[in-house]
Amino acid sequence: MTGSDRQGAEGDGAAGAPLGLVSHIQKFSVDDGPGIRTTVFLKGCNLSCLWCHNPECIDRHRELQFVASLCVSCGRCAAACPTGALPAPGRIEREACSLCGACAAACGSKALKISGEHMPAGSVVERLIRDRPFFDESGGGVTVSGGEALLQADFVRGLLMELKGLGVHTAVDTAACVPFSSFEKVLPYTDIFLIDIKLFDDGLHRRYTGASNRQVFENIRRLKGSGCRIHIRTPLINGVNCADSEMEGIAGFVADSGNIDLVELLAYHSYGEGKYPSLDREYLLSGDLKPSAEFLRRAEAVFRAKGIETTVQE
Ligand code: SF4
Ligand code: SF4
Repeated sequence: MTGSDRQGAEGDGAAGAPLGLVSHIQKFSVDDGPGIRTTVFLKGCNLSCLWCHNPECIDRHRELQFVASLCVSCGRCAAACPTGALPAPGRIEREACSLCGACAAACGSKALKISGEHMPAGSVVERLIRDRPFFDESGGGVTVSGGEALLQADFVRGLLMELKGLGVHTAVDTAACVPFSSFEKVLPYTDIFLIDIKLFDDGLHRRYTGASNRQVFENIRRLKGSGCRIHIRTPLINGVNCADSEMEGIAGFVADSGNIDLVELLAYHSYGEGKYPSLDREYLLSGDLKPSAEFLRRAEAVFRAKGIETTVQE
């Protein structure tokens, strides 16, 4: 395995500019900020939220993904593999895999793919700018998400700087569990931050995401006075944070902060669960995770009672 195969985020580009490790780029997104947006998903995250619906964005390295439902067991991938890392269809010996991509190229069913591409900001912008007519028409723009986008703050800064130079509206979607210096790098080029507050109770936050939420609240407080707009996003997961105390805690913080425009309450969905086996990952949440309609109404009422503009996505 070569160094570049396992290169993490922000390796040096040819001219010394940081490369981004891009998972995928999604067009026509209507859930990642105002208007129609194109969202750049970066690879690498420092949290381990049990409900993560982008598991392909968690690891900070390129990965081979295998979707069993697309495989017709033709064996072409194994024949193409130079390292013997595919002893049988769907069985990947990951330690032996050099991430060369030969199997994915040989697979006519698109069952195999390499997730993650090291890209300079300029190449990403070239792809994004093709969608400009949709941005202009809808009041949209570009959102950088992940994974945790701000783990690649130098790359994101370069990307957003180019986009702002072209007059494109920009958003950064972040869980905010990063040093404030990462925010400072991108602040001058970010129109809106979409920040997750996943849980109010720090013990529960540690249990379900693997990290404390203190840095999240501290970063939001420190953004006050920067002039940037903030939308808060809270996933609602039955058995995790669907409790009145959680809603009261988050709403109280938002009401006191004075620098938050909108709270989006996002009901749990299981869209990402099916991707876990393709990465040899286990989905650890189970049971009835969708919040009840009654709880959604109650949660919305808690925020609205404090004068907070609130939307609910079921
Ligand atoms: S080449 Fe694709 S379809 Fe054929 S066995 Fe490999 S993964 Fe399955
Ligand atoms: S990417 Fe595919 S072909 Fe290349 S080493 Fe890994 S399993 Fe073999």
